[in-house]
Amino acid sequence: MASETYSFQAEVSRLLDIVANALYSNKEVFLRELISNSSDACDKLRYAAITQPELTQDDPDFRVNIIPTKEARTVTVQDNGIGMNRDDLVENLGTIASSGTMKFMEQLEQARQQGESNQEALNMIGQFGVGFYAAFVVADKVEVETRKAGESQGWRWTSDGRGEFSIEETEDAPARGTRVRLHLKGDQDEFLEDARIRTIVQKYSDHIALPIYLREGEDAEQINTASALWTRPKSEITEDQYNEFYHHVAHAMDDPWLRIHFKAEGKVEYTGLLFVPGQKPFDLFHPDRKHGVKLYVRRVFITENCEDLVPAYLRFLRGVVDSEDLPLNISREMLQHNPRVTKIKQTLTTRVLNELKKKANKDAKAYGEFWEDFGAVLKEGLYEDTENQDTLLELARFHSSEREGLISLEDYVANMKEGQEAIYFVTGDTKEALAKSPQLEGFRAKGIEVLLLHHPIDDFWVPAVGTYKEMPFKSVTQGAADLDKFKSDQSEQDQGEQPDETTVGTLVAFLKTALEDKVKDVRQSERLTDSACCLVADEGDMDIHLERLLRQHGQTTPQSKRILEVNPRHPLINRLAETVKGQSNQADAKEAAYLLLDQARIMEGDNPEDPSAFAKRLSDLVAKGLAA
Ligand code: ADP
Ligand code: MG
Repeated sequence: MASETYSFQAEVSRLLDIVANALYSNKEVFLRELISNSSDACDKLRYAAITQPELTQDDPDFRVNIIPTKEARTVTVQDNGIGMNRDDLVENLGTIASSGTMKFMEQLEQARQQGESNQEALNMIGQFGVGFYAAFVVADKVEVETRKAGESQGWRWTSDGRGEFSIEETEDAPARGTRVRLHLKGDQDEFLEDARIRTIVQKYSDHIALPIYLREGEDAEQINTASALWTRPKSEITEDQYNEFYHHVAHAMDDPWLRIHFKAEGKVEYTGLLFVPGQKPFDLFHPDRKHGVKLYVRRVFITENCEDLVPAYLRFLRGVVDSEDLPLNISREMLQHNPRVTKIKQTLTTRVLNELKKKANKDAKAYGEFWEDFGAVLKEGLYEDTENQDTLLELARFHSSEREGLISLEDYVANMKEGQEAIYFVTGDTKEALAKSPQLEGFRAKGIEVLLLHHPIDDFWVPAVGTYKEMPFKSVTQGAADLDKFKSDQSEQDQGEQPDETTVGTLVAFLKTALEDKVKDVRQSERLTDSACCLVADEGDMDIHLERLLRQHGQTTPQSKRILEVNPRHPLINRLAETVKGQSNQADAKEAAYLLLDQARIMEGDNPEDPSAFAKRLSDLVAKGLAA
């Protein structure tokens, strides 16, 4: 059959264009990526052979060979893994499945624009599921000869990386597995040198659990240690080896923030080598909430998708769990709701939370950095994992209205005012916006600390958890503020003149009538000191921020009517009260009432109910003011 030519998917072409034409100082990563693919291919076949032993009977020892050929100026990476058939080739080496690719290309483009200064970009190629294409950094032609385990037909894929690739049948494919042959670009001869290859493999691939040979046949020389890193005694593993292993399992280039290497004994036996990344993975908030811990059974790779192995709120974890007591021939389906897996999850969770606690106690600053990256995820556990709720509450950190930096709930409680019976909080989109919330003013004036909760998850866990050490959480944007009983830090004079009760009463009554169908109630505020007005949710109604969040996520939540609170000490309210009392200009007063309400909405981060009406009212008012 003749060779058939295909076009690369547009994204692949663009990627290849960037990859092939930029200057990189760390071109050697292409070898790491090809070895990583070979290792994956062997893992896949080893797993398939558990149920179909005939697939590997002829050649049971998995391996990778790296073969430099000086005369032809090629480097070949060959494995006896699962191999690919024609459809696999089209699918895997012609399109990009990963959603992160666009992001990666942006980083590469940026690196290119910055010239020499950002050489790390290429290093991340594996992280985005496009490692294979790194071959075109050093090669101007790549051939892939491959035969899928259990199939008889071999295939050759060829491309010069310029828009197209071709596929044809071949007799020359390995008996099983894949041979990737790189025709090196003119200036890449260094990769033909034994010493160079040895160094690269030792640097990046020593932890790969399968033997890597330099050359093949009689003069093949094994150039890695080839034992699964997590099975080696801790004392024999260097920091660099741990870090390289992390780069490999996590498809990441940062150094881990925390490493946990342990052997669990007792009811379930397993080895865990887990990492907390030093940088936030790009897909941390992807809706599938997948974790990054691979499951092995007695050194055999089983799956990286064992959902039940790690709770979703620890999905930032990377690493491996190697079980001693799960059956080897376990299918991925059987792993669901498996009691042994559940037990692993429980013990692993306890261990990780304990390690986090230790870190928090030992180095608050470093823990704070971890929290800024992963706190929003960890907090999901507060409402998903009631069993560990207390520990998670201990681990949680918050920004507050009274202090710089992060505080714990313990810190909060220690700082409570005499007679304070609740943990006050406010939820919103950013801590900066929250710090300026009008609803905080009264609390601030009395020195009462308010937690600034700026993650979407906060609207969910707080009601679910309800209390901390029997102290209820209370939103400052909901219900009455009850601030009267606390002594003020500021003297009353600072806060401006307050009109007499009847004047305020008349104003409130007027506003109630004017805004009758827009608000649930109008009342004099205890929580405002500087702003003229604010909105609060009635006790028992849905919190304002939560309601907006649900609407943003397409939930058809009916908009609850809110309570408008006014600050009688504010000059605007003062004037308005006088106007209403004097009955001089009721029409203007009514316009002002609408403006007041829209102003409160804007401060919530909402839009005025009718933006054009709002703009007109405001212009009219300003025009009048200027004319006066
Ligand atoms: P990733 O490894 O993250 O999936 P790559 O670009 O490195 O991304 O590889 C793309 C795909 O090509 C792999 O997922 C795999 O299906 C296939 N592939 C690459 N190299 C091999 C190989 N040596 N043996 C079998 N399949 C391979
Ligand atoms: Mg890869």
